[in-house]
Amino acid sequence: MLKKTIMENTILGLHHITAIADDAQRNYNFYTKVLGLRLVKKTVNFDDPGTYHFYFGDEAGSPGTILTFFPWEGIGKGYTGTGMATDIGYSVAKDSLGFWSDRFKQFNVKQEQIQERFGEQYLSFQDPDGLKLDLIITANEDNRKGWETNDVKADVATKGFHNITLTLKNVTPTATILTDILGYKLLKQEGNRYRFITDAVDNANVVDMIEAPNLAPGRGAAGTNHHVAFRVKDDNILMNFREKIASKGFGITPKIDRDYFFSLYFREPGGVLFELATDNPGFTRDEPLNELGTSLKLPKQYENNRKQIEETLPVLS
Ligand code: ZN
Repeated sequence: MLKKTIMENTILGLHHITAIADDAQRNYNFYTKVLGLRLVKKTVNFDDPGTYHFYFGDEAGSPGTILTFFPWEGIGKGYTGTGMATDIGYSVAKDSLGFWSDRFKQFNVKQEQIQERFGEQYLSFQDPDGLKLDLIITANEDNRKGWETNDVKADVATKGFHNITLTLKNVTPTATILTDILGYKLLKQEGNRYRFITDAVDNANVVDMIEAPNLAPGRGAAGTNHHVAFRVKDDNILMNFREKIASKGFGITPKIDRDYFFSLYFREPGGVLFELATDNPGFTRDEPLNELGTSLKLPKQYENNRKQIEETLPVLS
């Protein structure tokens, strides 16, 4: 019983990653059609309801599979640098990288040669806004089932996240947050890349950090990551972490209701915006599983302005 309590009162790897795009239709086409993810929720940015908020994931939008975007049309390209998450890693099945390389050629997706690090083969590519992603054959077998489309069958589909990479001037202060607060430990180092892992879950449990003391800070706009959300079971545990983080002297938001999860945000000392997000209530709170992502969902404070919001948002085809 004691062990169970300890395991539950912990960070369960990644919950979601949020990035910035420019054109909404192009973003939607790339992630659903080329990459074969499921649009599990189509809503608006709660702080800017004239902008979509897309959530792409597996069938249910399980924590650890969710990549979300704010498509701010006309924002223009940002660039990566220190103080941000710079690379998103998806887990894929063994022998699937050939399929993906051919598919990326077919759709003119910018990609690199297959490479290896920490004993894992991976294929790096960029989305249409220049956001960097990797498909990785993970050292430990990943039993999660990916979303299947006509073109991307389950045997090659992405299974959810493997890792996120943060690029930092100095890894030490961020590493301290990961080990002392979030329950990660250093697994390996290769050159200036440090790999941290949590044993609390089997997947989406890796954070890589690159130390780049001479690299300039990045600029957040299209093609860059906005924040990284870590997963907790529920809002009681969320509030335990709030106390823990505040007691170390970091500024942290109150609990925020994001309709599909509850959140806290704090900026870690390396400059990356971290969020903690709960499993509850999940994406089926306002749509049944088989209809996820099919209609525009608004938080209740904007429901009265639905008509105006729908007229402002770009029409998706
Ligand atoms: Zn978030």
